Amino acid sequence: MADRLAGKVALITGGTSGIGAETAKLFAAEGAKVVISGRSKEKGQALADAIGQGTLYVEADVTQEDDIRKSVEFTVAEFGKLDILFNNAGGPVGAPIDEIGQEHIDYGVRLLLSSVILGTRYAIEPMKANGGGCIINNSSIAALRHRQGDPLYSSLKAGVTHFSKMSGIELGGHNIRVNSISPGAIATPIFWGGSGRANTLSDEENERKMAKLEKSLAASVPLEKTGYALDIAEAALYLASDAGRFVTCHDLVVDGGRTSMFFEPS
Ligand code: NAP
Repeated sequence: MADRLAGKVALITGGTSGIGAETAKLFAAEGAKVVISGRSKEKGQALADAIGQGTLYVEADVTQEDDIRKSVEFTVAEFGKLDILFNNAGGPVGAPIDEIGQEHIDYGVRLLLSSVILGTRYAIEPMKANGGGCIINNSSIAALRHRQGDPLYSSLKAGVTHFSKMSGIELGGHNIRVNSISPGAIATPIFWGGSGRANTLSDEENERKMAKLEKSLAASVPLEKTGYALDIAEAALYLASDAGRFVTCHDLVVDGGRTSMFFEPS
């Protein structure tokens, strides 16, 4: 299969690493014209060049409304329309509750929730003009179960899942489908990324950390194997492609069964 997104134009935020990068590769391989956004200019440009198929990189910090708007405008200016928006950018935002300050909350809201809301807001006009579209928001199993993330991250991801359902209801009449994905325990650099910092490790350093992470994640899910970024990219492909045409307001959990496990209170 290599044409499930033929003729489609996709914008993927946080496309410079992990789930976003793997989704960009898969979407392009399935025939889509893809724009990836993120803060890491060198990485983003190198990845866009490596993917080829006309893939473009646009520098954007999703905590900034202007950058979000400009990314959508850039996509439409380059490719003439926007069919698919994957609001994927994110990272750790929290701190223990007794250390949390207004700055953690402001940054967390901007990175994880405002980015999704404003991305949706700016995608609506080009999608309406195009007769419809598909918005996918990367949430988390942290939105569904305790002890999958710190309280701030979990609460904001719960907001992402809820916003996806609510905006799906509002936009259904315009043939715009809105869904979320809730990944769990996916081996990506998010596990060693710090709040607000771009991943500046070398490829070798990332690979070393990844090998260690893969082992521990496999031991934490009923399937007893590691979840990879491609597992989430495949879920995004299903939602974005014609196979997902009757699916909206849905939260697609991809977690190797992790949310069905019982966790003892710590
Ligand atoms: P990752 O490999 O660390 O990728 C995070 C991406 O987000 C990077 O491309 C990064 O790009 C981008 N990003 C971070 N802050 C940004 C900002 N202010 N502006 C623009 N881009 C920003 O992590 P990942 O696991 O693929 O995470 C992708 C999404 O999946 C996140 O929303 C995360 O919460 C969600 N998720 C992941 C897991 C998991 O187990 N991995 C589980 C549940 C949910 P730059 O550094 O270039 O800006």
